[in-house]
Amino acid sequence: MSRSLVIIGGGVAGLAAGCYAKMNGFDVEIHEMHHQPGGLCTAWNRSGYTFDLCIDWLTGSAPGSGLYPVWEELGIVQGRKFIDPEYFGITLDETGDRFTAWTDPDRLMQEMLRIGPEDEKFIREFVSGIKRLMKVEMPIDSGLAALLKFLPALGTYNKYSVPVSTLTERITNPRLREFFRNTYDWHDQSAIFLMFMLAYMARRSAGYPLGGSVPLVRAMEQRYLSLGGLIRYGSKVAEIMVENGRAAGIRLQDGTAVRSDLVLSAADGYSTIFRWLPGNYADPRIQELYRTLEPYPPLVFVSMGVNADYSKEPWTLSFPLKHPIRIGEKEVTRLLVRNHSRDPSMAPRGKSVFTTPIETDYAFWEGIPYHSDHYRTEKDRLCKEVPAALEEVYPGIRDQIEVTDVATPHTFIRYTGNWKGSYEGWLMTKKTMNLRFPQKLRGLSGFYMAGQWVSPGGGLPGAATSARSAIKLLCKDEKRSFVTQTA
Ligand SMILES: Cc1cc2nc3c(=O)[nH]c(=O)nc-3n(C[C@H](O)[C@H](O)[C@H](O)COP(=O)(O)OP(=O)(O)OC[C@H]3O[C@@H](n4cnc5c(N)ncnc54)[C@H](O)[C@@H]3O)c2cc1C
Repeated sequence: MSRSLVIIGGGVAGLAAGCYAKMNGFDVEIHEMHHQPGGLCTAWNRSGYTFDLCIDWLTGSAPGSGLYPVWEELGIVQGRKFIDPEYFGITLDETGDRFTAWTDPDRLMQEMLRIGPEDEKFIREFVSGIKRLMKVEMPIDSGLAALLKFLPALGTYNKYSVPVSTLTERITNPRLREFFRNTYDWHDQSAIFLMFMLAYMARRSAGYPLGGSVPLVRAMEQRYLSLGGLIRYGSKVAEIMVENGRAAGIRLQDGTAVRSDLVLSAADGYSTIFRWLPGNYADPRIQELYRTLEPYPPLVFVSMGVNADYSKEPWTLSFPLKHPIRIGEKEVTRLLVRNHSRDPSMAPRGKSVFTTPIETDYAFWEGIPYHSDHYRTEKDRLCKEVPAALEEVYPGIRDQIEVTDVATPHTFIRYTGNWKGSYEGWLMTKKTMNLRFPQKLRGLSGFYMAGQWVSPGGGLPGAATSARSAIKLLCKDEKRSFVTQTA
């Protein structure tokens, strides 16, 4: 008889875990609280416009990358058209001068030299670091073989295992330093993580999949269903059942018990460990990680449907605000705008979609009850202030906006359950870069974890590869050899 596995969460990690578990002969049932798959990898429609939350690039989108076979196994790259970005971002300063962060390393070098010729040594080293990383693979498996493949990049890895902010301080030209900071420096992000990303882009292997997040996820859902998997939507998990130190299934919010031989959580890490297994298997190390590490902050995500063609404008633009936007205690002085015109499926012909992910304080939103008058007032204010900010770079756009949609940390929690509304799990810092998160909990057998909360830095690669390694681990425990198949 095949062994049964219940998976909590139908995001990318849950679907991927489902695919790998089916390839290895388990009876699998995914329980997803929402009525559709994808979790954070999602989009929604408003009056003919598609507001895509997630996908800017899929790392490993081109054959030859070590990640590509994973995407093939999960059935999401076959037949899909990718657009490789010419630039990582365009950044404006207070004078209106612009910095284009080209994905081609030589063009990037020229652009950096144009602004800060006195930083030639720094620039050349940075660009050669990217070029060196283009020749290696981010390891998707642990073990000696993966390590050996990674050896040529070890020098670069060590040199750039510092926060981007530390790297930025080495730049002497103040304009270049500001451009570099405003383009590449998010929080305490590790420089090597950024450079790996730039190396994938330079290799043209971090493309934007035409159609966006939803078709990608639907292809993975289809792959899972075609392997014989089951998925239950609108099925909210409230507890992981444990019997004699072994996971025995799940209990749903409506009280239904679903028994299984094995359980894998591919949903929020905090809820899994501290709510559904109420802290009983959180050893001191896990408690310390959750107490000390920082998640990516939550977002206010403003989407706008615009009745005008902006397809000639940059796909992403960062610019300083003449009139800062205040959200709680925080003053937003710079806006990052994504223009989705490179994908014609996002808006009716001749129209455009802009989205702005704005990082915000969780504590502020936590203090405002969902759907209260205060909440509505805040949303209404952002509906006015964000288009007014866009007006600073695109005069006239405010009057062309037909639809505005504001998602807040409450929205993220409601639809994905992520802790503190985080949009990508743990921040990728110098500390988390080398941290291995446990995918099993000490004292609890038959239980596994996958997804962005066990894979710092989040993202679709982390979600998929952590699912793959969780099922590999599960196969080992079940004394089966792990197998995969390409779709
Ligand atoms: C603005 C933005 C841009 C991004 N851009 C990119 C990008 O360009 N490239 C990239 O690789 N990544 C990107 N990401 C990150 C990526 O979307 C996430 O890291 C990834 O989708 C996380 O997948 P996951 O399956 O681990 O978690 P989630 O997507 O959070 O999935 C968890 C699932 O569990 C379900 N769940 C939660 N609680 C329960 C419960 N009680 N019962 C049942 N089900 C439950 C949720 O509904 C959800 O479907 C972006 C994210 C955001 C927000």
